[in-house]
Amino acid sequence: MSKLLIENVSKSFGKNQVLQDMSLTVSDGEFVSILGPSGSGKSTLFRLIGGISLPDSGSIYLDDAKINGQRGSISYMPQSSSLFPWRTILKNVLLGAELNGKIDEDKAVNMLERAGLKGYEHAYPHQLSGGMKQRVSFIRALLSPQAFMCLDEPFSALDEFTRVDMQKWLLNVWTEYQRSILFVTHHIEEAIFLSDRIIVLSQRPATVKKEFVIPFERPRREELLLTEEFLR
Ligand code: ADP
Ligand code: MG
Repeated sequence: MSKLLIENVSKSFGKNQVLQDMSLTVSDGEFVSILGPSGSGKSTLFRLIGGISLPDSGSIYLDDAKINGQRGSISYMPQSSSLFPWRTILKNVLLGAELNGKIDEDKAVNMLERAGLKGYEHAYPHQLSGGMKQRVSFIRALLSPQAFMCLDEPFSALDEFTRVDMQKWLLNVWTEYQRSILFVTHHIEEAIFLSDRIIVLSQRPATVKKEFVIPFERPRREELLLTEEFLR
């Protein structure tokens, strides 16, 4: 398990102050969702946590170690597709696992099949739809070894049935591997179903505006997700 501490982080692009003194924590094994208006700075925050860019001030700690600017500390699924166009789908999903040398090709093939991508192992990203590419990035994040995951609107391009299926899968992985998750979504119901806690950001410059603790226990949430059965 893994815990994250963000302390007074600020970030501007020129005169555009995007994050202002942002502080938040994610405890060991916690599932936290972030809701906030478009352009409020959610993806900017995730890029700072992922070490893709540096905060102007403030610190980010993972399990008490400062990770400002350090890539690879967490498993990060960016909002827009970051698949490598020259790698096959199978090679793309194995990228995260290659980090720790534990490559399990059979597992990756099974996961692709589970996500409705059977037969696409040796295809290239340009041959897939947006929703398919999103599922490929999701599997890559699941197969990555890090205990902390940041998922930036992972299900936004999916139809409602596939979305519910992926939500259940994520809940299973979260419980089974005891990961800690920070998740961005615009779906309020999705945030309520999945998370322990919801953080609502203000308009830019973003800061934590409100926090809600979700009263449902995990089994209860899984039960809620079973409403899918009624939809089919
Ligand atoms: P959200 O994910 O909440 O929709 P973003 O973090 O993508 O918001 O963007 C927040 C603000 O930061 C926007 O005004 C956007 O234009 C700006 N921004 C993000 N990345 C950059 C960048 N690399 N250079 C300049 N401005 C940026
Ligand atoms: Mg975003």
